[in-house]
Amino acid sequence: MQNFFHAVTLDEDKCMGCTNCIKRCPTAAIRVRDKKARINASRCIDCGECIRVCPHHAKQATCDGLDVLNRYEYTVALPAPSFMAQFNNLEDVDIVLNALIRFGFNDVFEVAKAAELVSAATRILMKQNGPPERPVISSACPAVVRLIRVRFPNLIPQILPLHAPVEVAAKMAREKAMEETGLPSEKIGIVFISPCPAKVTAVKMPLTIEKSNIDAVVAVKEIYPKIFPLMKEVVSEEPVVSSEIGRIGLSWGSSGGESSGLLRDNYLAADGIENVIRVLEDLEDEKFQGVDFVELNACNGGCVGGVLNVENPYVAKTKLSRIRKQLPVSFNHLDTLDPSMLWDSPLEYVPALQLDDNFMVALQKMNEIEKIVSQLEGLDCGSCGAPSCRALAEDIVMGTATIDDCIFQLRKKYAERAEKGKEKTK
Ligand code: SF4
Ligand code: SF4
Repeated sequence: MQNFFHAVTLDEDKCMGCTNCIKRCPTAAIRVRDKKARINASRCIDCGECIRVCPHHAKQATCDGLDVLNRYEYTVALPAPSFMAQFNNLEDVDIVLNALIRFGFNDVFEVAKAAELVSAATRILMKQNGPPERPVISSACPAVVRLIRVRFPNLIPQILPLHAPVEVAAKMAREKAMEETGLPSEKIGIVFISPCPAKVTAVKMPLTIEKSNIDAVVAVKEIYPKIFPLMKEVVSEEPVVSSEIGRIGLSWGSSGGESSGLLRDNYLAADGIENVIRVLEDLEDEKFQGVDFVELNACNGGCVGGVLNVENPYVAKTKLSRIRKQLPVSFNHLDTLDPSMLWDSPLEYVPALQLDDNFMVALQKMNEIEKIVSQLEGLDCGSCGAPSCRALAEDIVMGTATIDDCIFQLRKKYAERAEKGKEKTK
């Protein structure tokens, strides 16, 4: 049996069973049974949509606490490019970096720095015709990669086989820290400041790398209130660390940024889980001609839209554009592809719904599902606790629901019973 880690979890005490979340889940992972939501671990991609829509705050993201700094002798903070967009009137990225040092980190390594290298590696890889199937799909958003893995397996060969910038940054940060301090790897803590739960899961349960180089993940909203007051203090001081990023790296924080770093026009960038699904469906239907690269971000606006951020994604996007203007085009370059940036292992298809290991039994179950679907109303009303009539039919066949969970079927049953009762008394 497969083990799962999910950053997105349910606080059962807060769940009111309102069913708001079931239809928003892109992988139909949520059911409401006995007035409580349940998340199917094999389907969840940790996109955070259910956190966004739950009016009772019953869905939450599990991250590491800031006490992680006490666990290591030397710690390095990895701020995401979108982190810089959380602050008002930020004139200089150095202010944020130095506030992180003042807070207690020993060093800071900007994820945007690694993002520039990933942009360069992508340009090299695409020139060398790898992966050969076009358009190439970005691998940067872990929720999108997991969505493709469970819902669009035919598109797996088109995914860019490069580690995400945060993973590249973590490896570089660890090597730098070991060299500068002489400490062994286990005494160094690499801490990512994350905008979304999908990135937490990508660290705790990685797919294409055996073990992540990141030791802990803290939410932007957890560290923001600690950093903000320190920023005022560092303005007048000599900076301890200085930013080493250009526009290309910082642009990765919002939708379209990764694509613009490829320095070509024939790309498509979509954001927001519904738009992403539409694009993936069109990609399966081979609708995009002449498009070489597709950038997909599960959150609205890209990483600035992550549920662990503090700023409104649209305001954050504007702030990012403002900071970008003061930067050089690129600060980090790559002449040849560094093989350590490539995935360690291929991405494997994991079906969201495995009816049975035995093909004949699975086929039989599939026929049963179709039969039940034809009996149901087809309203996809969600009152049964499943997001659609088909999902309820699947649950019935898998033994986790009964036909009586459908309010229309139940009414029909009672009406028939009443009719029979009347006939008996005649
Ligand atoms: S939205 Fe989902 S998790 Fe939140 S209270 Fe309603 S059923 Fe429960
Ligand atoms: S995090 Fe996303 S995939 Fe997981 S249960 Fe919530 S909405 Fe569904």
